[in-house]
Amino acid sequence: MKVLFIEDDMIECMKMQRAVSKFTTKHQIIEAKNGEEALNILKGGDLPDIIFLDLNMPRMNGIEFLAILKNDEKLRYLPTIILTTSENRTDLLECFKIGIAGYIIKPLKYEDYEDKIKRAFQYWEINELIKG
Ligand SMILES: [Mg+2]
Repeated sequence: MKVLFIEDDMIECMKMQRAVSKFTTKHQIIEAKNGEEALNILKGGDLPDIIFLDLNMPRMNGIEFLAILKNDEKLRYLPTIILTTSENRTDLLECFKIGIAGYIIKPLKYEDYEDKIKRAFQYWEINELIKG
């Protein structure tokens, strides 16, 4: 799958790359440091199969990005999964209200993180993807 990973923290990007590199299926991870950078990538026309989105980011945060995405005639169909440390119920409700395909809390332990990411990828691999 082609995955757009929107995350401002370099350590988190390394964690994602490390986890994905262990999977038997190969995936392409495109990184964006914030919502603004992600929108530029998407407007370039190269659409991913799924998006993993952090909430706490400078410039344009995850919820602001999500609102713009879901208002766009073409981009609104991209399955977007929140990947965050925020257990804030207001964030959770707001994201589901705007429209998300999942909300995953990042576990603190790396092994648990890898396990959750693996299961998320396996779930999306069995889905019919839009292939924009
Ligand atoms: Mg962050």
